[in-house]
Amino acid sequence: MKALALFSGGLDSILSMKLVIDQEIEVVAIYVDTGFGSLNDRVSYLQRMCDFIGAKLEILDLKEKYLGEVLFEPKYGYGKNFNPCIDCHGFMFRHTARLLEKYDASFMISGEVLGQRPMSQNKDALGIVQKLSENEDLVLRPLSAKLLPMTKAEREGWVDREKLLDIWGRSRAIQLEMAKKIGLENFEPPAGGCLLTDVQFSNRLRDFVANDTLEIEDIDTLKVGRQLRLPDGAKLIIGRNQEDNEKLEATNSKKYLKARIMDAIGPLVLFEKNASEADKKMAADFIVSYGKTESEKVYDVNFGDFIVQGKKLVSKDAIQKYLIV
Ligand code: SF4
Repeated sequence: MKALALFSGGLDSILSMKLVIDQEIEVVAIYVDTGFGSLNDRVSYLQRMCDFIGAKLEILDLKEKYLGEVLFEPKYGYGKNFNPCIDCHGFMFRHTARLLEKYDASFMISGEVLGQRPMSQNKDALGIVQKLSENEDLVLRPLSAKLLPMTKAEREGWVDREKLLDIWGRSRAIQLEMAKKIGLENFEPPAGGCLLTDVQFSNRLRDFVANDTLEIEDIDTLKVGRQLRLPDGAKLIIGRNQEDNEKLEATNSKKYLKARIMDAIGPLVLFEKNASEADKKMAADFIVSYGKTESEKVYDVNFGDFIVQGKKLVSKDAIQKYLIV
């Protein structure tokens, strides 16, 4: 018997897999890459967690479908930030269900816990997610199974319902105790990986979609550096350190020019193409201000297609109001 698990990387999804693996069911952990989960930094973590409990890891790239099907028009709305959790879970189950045949698996599981999140994991919400999965009877939540209607896996005896749990509510005491018992350490905090639950990232995303059409390659640019929206609408992203600079250097979005100060050390910058002359001038001053530069001296800032002269501002206070925070 095999099952596919929605695997977020969080403790609940790990424990839900463990409960099923303990019943001698093979589990393939499906990590859905929506583009908002900081996947690049986490693959080795995800693999380590799967190795620990004995599940196989598969990464399912659904970035394009996520933008098209979920992010902008979630039927069941957003959580506190830009997180459309109910639609998102339904979407993940729906697409994971399409892999059941490939893996010769019979049902799906997730780490959802009844009552853990007031909006997206109450009884109604879990029912809606099941409907959105288009495979209602194949969705099992091992951590709260005893509090939920029976699913096919239990009815058919594929899993022993008695060995599943009845966890309810926001406390994670039982899960932490379970983790301790099996020696599981260094797991991520809840929703640790999803940027859509982060206030600052959500503000950046809101600003972006108010000014432009979001494409997949834009998502990574929203994760890096200081982000500013200048008065005539141009977007400016300034690296804060070497790591940011390297990430910005590696981007290949057609929307931006890469810029640097000439003859001085300074940040790498992405700057929107087709900016007004006033925004170009302001960007040059801001870039010079974040460089190792001297007051009163005029520097050339190379934007690739053109060069603009800039001067260090007396104070960075003038920059603050353009920061997207
Ligand atoms: S926290 Fe993010 S990944 Fe998780 S269900 Fe919500 S939107 Fe989807």
